[in-house]
Amino acid sequence: MGKYVLAIDAGTTSSRAIIFDQKGTAVAIAQHEFTQYFPKNGWVEHDAYEIWETQYKALQEVLEKARITADQIHAIGITNQRETTVIWDRETGQAVGPAIVWQDRRTAGFCETLTANNKAPIFYDKTGLVLDAYFSGTKIKWILDQNPDLREKAALGQLAFGTIDTWLIWKLTKGQKHVTDATNASRTLLFNIHTQEWDTTLLELLDVPDSILPVVVDSSEIVGVTDKTLLGAEIPIGGIAGDQQAALFGQMCLEPGSVKNTYGTGCFCIMNTGDTPVRSKNKMLTTIAYRLNGKVTYAIEGSVFVAGALIQWLRDQLQIIGQAPEIEQLAETEENSGGVTFIPALSGLGAPFWNPYATGALLGITRGTSKGHIARAALEAIALRSRDIIEAMQKDAGAPFRSLKVDGGASTNNLLMQIQADLLNTQVIRPKTTETTALGAAFLAGLATGFWKNTEELQALWEKDRIFSPQTNNQSALVIKLWEERMAKI
Ligand code: ADP
Repeated sequence: MGKYVLAIDAGTTSSRAIIFDQKGTAVAIAQHEFTQYFPKNGWVEHDAYEIWETQYKALQEVLEKARITADQIHAIGITNQRETTVIWDRETGQAVGPAIVWQDRRTAGFCETLTANNKAPIFYDKTGLVLDAYFSGTKIKWILDQNPDLREKAALGQLAFGTIDTWLIWKLTKGQKHVTDATNASRTLLFNIHTQEWDTTLLELLDVPDSILPVVVDSSEIVGVTDKTLLGAEIPIGGIAGDQQAALFGQMCLEPGSVKNTYGTGCFCIMNTGDTPVRSKNKMLTTIAYRLNGKVTYAIEGSVFVAGALIQWLRDQLQIIGQAPEIEQLAETEENSGGVTFIPALSGLGAPFWNPYATGALLGITRGTSKGHIARAALEAIALRSRDIIEAMQKDAGAPFRSLKVDGGASTNNLLMQIQADLLNTQVIRPKTTETTALGAAFLAGLATGFWKNTEELQALWEKDRIFSPQTNNQSALVIKLWEERMAKI
């Protein structure tokens, strides 16, 4: 019996493999970056084969680093960059072209046409998604439309579509399994999140043949075993979830109303809404949080495009800091932001504003404004944008908001976390492990194979690093007032 669970974290820029022990502690990590291709304005591609190669290398390396053999691995869990689309030939296992990445905008025009034809409400009702190029459906159509041969092959059942989870499982099982889980399926614009089925109306609207679609499984379920020749043993593949959903699970946000926010380049915020798919009045996405034993738990999701990227901008363009973490020290040179508001719309504004044309602004500058004020205003901006989303989610969900669990690179910034707690007037809880996404995948896999008995056992493994409680006498009321007045003019 294996003593470890292995998580595959197939990210947007790198393929990672992490081994966890029974306590949920990461014992070894291996990682390989892969190439990002930008062939045209707005296009972003990956080489699916390179993703597999780097992932395979990371898997071999992590076993070596941990000095354990594959037969000591109880289960593998997979978490992945979502929506990125691969189509391959079932016979040869070769991708028919580059993978189209979630960031790719090439199908925006087609989405606009569908919207102009009043199709957006149909997609929203069935999938909980806004009709946008971000999701897989229109990317599948685009690939198939490139070549009549592909359409013909698809009609004959010779092609397979998958997001990165599906592609990697195909490779790991040497073509034995063509599956995805409900969280990944829920990001395709093709999957009805209410009936849990691929939706024929949507397939017709996007001209996608059902012959290419994977079987949709639970997020925690043994779907197959790795081919013995790859790692030296047949390891059960027991967990699959898209990256944000895996982080939600890894953060043990299992109660309705629990929320996690990831502070990376952008912020990704998800709230568990239990067994109710909440319809958002605030342009949030409705999505599947996880599916366990056939039972669906739903979530609402919102994202901020620019969060840590704002700190990068201060570092690289204004050069007021040398390294991202220095922002905290600089911000601490002032007690407040001195009436300065930083509107972080460096690439438009996402939920709940959805204004792609908005640009950033620094408002309220006087002769007395210092670098420290600007640094503090930047941290406030990240927390204020997160607050916009969390407040909108709360309104949508009508669920009591318990606390906010945080992760991601910028969550190590104590001042930012304190500002967030003050602005939300709630506790902000940071876990000990920063690898929440991979941990979520490991948890899902370990649950399926009995490595961990139940979610109660997992809850007990989740450890906090620090709780940030709202401070009395903080200046949040003024900061929020200025923010709301100034945002209204953007
Ligand atoms: P991603 O997964 O999006 O690449 P990470 O979770 O690795 O992002 O976080 C990196 C981002 O966080 C960068 O944008 C960086 O500017 C920001 N960041 C890192 N450390 C800090 C810090 N101490 N304070 C504020 N921002 C930080």
